[in-house]
Amino acid sequence: MELVDKNIPVLLYHRIVKRGDVVGRHKIYVWEDRFYRQMKLLKEAGYSSVTFEDIHQHKVSGDKNVIITFDDGYEDNYIYAYPVLKALRLPAIIFLTTDFIEKGKKIAYNPCYNVLKPLSWGQISEMQKSGIMLGSHTNTHPKLSQIDIKEAEIEIRADRSSKKIRI
Ligand SMILES: [Zn+2]
Repeated sequence: MELVDKNIPVLLYHRIVKRGDVVGRHKIYVWEDRFYRQMKLLKEAGYSSVTFEDIHQHKVSGDKNVIITFDDGYEDNYIYAYPVLKALRLPAIIFLTTDFIEKGKKIAYNPCYNVLKPLSWGQISEMQKSGIMLGSHTNTHPKLSQIDIKEAEIEIRADRSSKKIRI
């Protein structure tokens, strides 16, 4: 109940790219310079970036909180987003698709994305030491609403059981 009452906005990013980079068919990206400006504006407006862990531990106070998240686990999160988040001391959460990270498998219904690199575990563990948390984003990134409930359960469990994802 408390979680709902706090009404904390969640910013959901996918890719952070440099102008001129491959952006893909779905255009789920933000230019790196715009991302920096967005983060800086949040800071200047007095917002704190909080994680789900902070909420569970009742460490969240005030009404200027925000949750910053990234889906899928693209390498550009490390190259462009992480330095900004680190410099501005903004914790964030990256939801990883484990087959993409561990096996380099392209994300199921995003065939154009096979040119995009996933984060490496080295990059991930470096980020974890500086306030980046990890979350589960399934194993192969299927559309969960379009698969059998048992398959969906396997997708989610397989991802959570990945030894390296600890949230
Ligand atoms: Zn996704």
